[in-house]
Amino acid sequence: AALIAQMLVDPVGIILRWYDELQVAQVSLARLVGVRDIEPDAGDGTLAPDGRHVHADRVHFGYLEGVDVLRKVSLEVAPGTRLALVGPSGAGKSTLGRLLAGIYGPREGRITLGGAELSRMSAERVRSHVALVNQEHHVFVGSLRDNLRLARTGATDAELWAALGAVDADGWSRGLDEGLDTEVGSGGFALTPAQAQQIALARLVLADPHTLVLDEATSLLDPRAARHLERSLARVLDGRTVIAIAHRLHTAHDADVIAVVENGRICELGSHDELVAADGAYAALWRSWHG
Ligand code: ATP
Repeated sequence: AALIAQMLVDPVGIILRWYDELQVAQVSLARLVGVRDIEPDAGDGTLAPDGRHVHADRVHFGYLEGVDVLRKVSLEVAPGTRLALVGPSGAGKSTLGRLLAGIYGPREGRITLGGAELSRMSAERVRSHVALVNQEHHVFVGSLRDNLRLARTGATDAELWAALGAVDADGWSRGLDEGLDTEVGSGGFALTPAQAQQIALARLVLADPHTLVLDEATSLLDPRAARHLERSLARVLDGRTVIAIAHRLHTAHDADVIAVVENGRICELGSHDELVAADGAYAALWRSWHG
């Protein structure tokens, strides 16, 4: 009640104070989880990747002080490789994916891309090399053009249509009365979940990162839309390094390399056949998944 009364007499002041507290909270949270510095880099060229190898070197991470989620994880992913991260729920797969995509910085150890440390690159530079793909696609209030150009500011309309075509979204989008000027997001043209995901994929085509971290959470789409989108996604993944967080084992089966994550560590690494032959943790997971 006191807060409401204060808001009535001093709405701006209290919002500013909240804002201050939010800033403090943000800073301490950033320190807590080791969120990467998103300041632009000095632009001296030293942080530009020289190649496309993704390398995690003795990475240690936790969201909260004293709670380790990843412990001394080391991993090297050669360009063009498909790596699948598998393991029990809560093992740290998604967390490792977020670190490899530069969303969080390690508390100890290093993650490098072509020899350059991710946590020392500007957010923009990181995004031009590696992207996290998940079901959290965001469509903002604005035109379809604005939504796509988030991925590449200077893209021409022809490039935007080509990106929509590359993800099979040109059918419905060409039919929009106002084309790329059509307002989308809340209050605008109501996109279906599949269309919103196609926009997210078209953004990937425009940003053209060579490495993708794919968090394949269970799809909220109907089976037909899901299959359609899977085909588009397969084309977008083609030729890139893919680190897939496989919550279902069948998607890991075809990966070049499978890393089994257990309790914040990588405990096995190899192809499906190698790991089945080794008869360890992966073989046990595989058996349990296949009855
Ligand atoms: P799943 O297959 O169930 O998604 P996972 O192997 O991907 O599991 P993570 O999601 O990486 O596991 O979670 C690893 C641990 O980190 C879990 O104990 C989880 O509760 C914790 N965790 C994950 N995200 C956060 C977060 N944002 N803040 C605090 N703790 C988190």
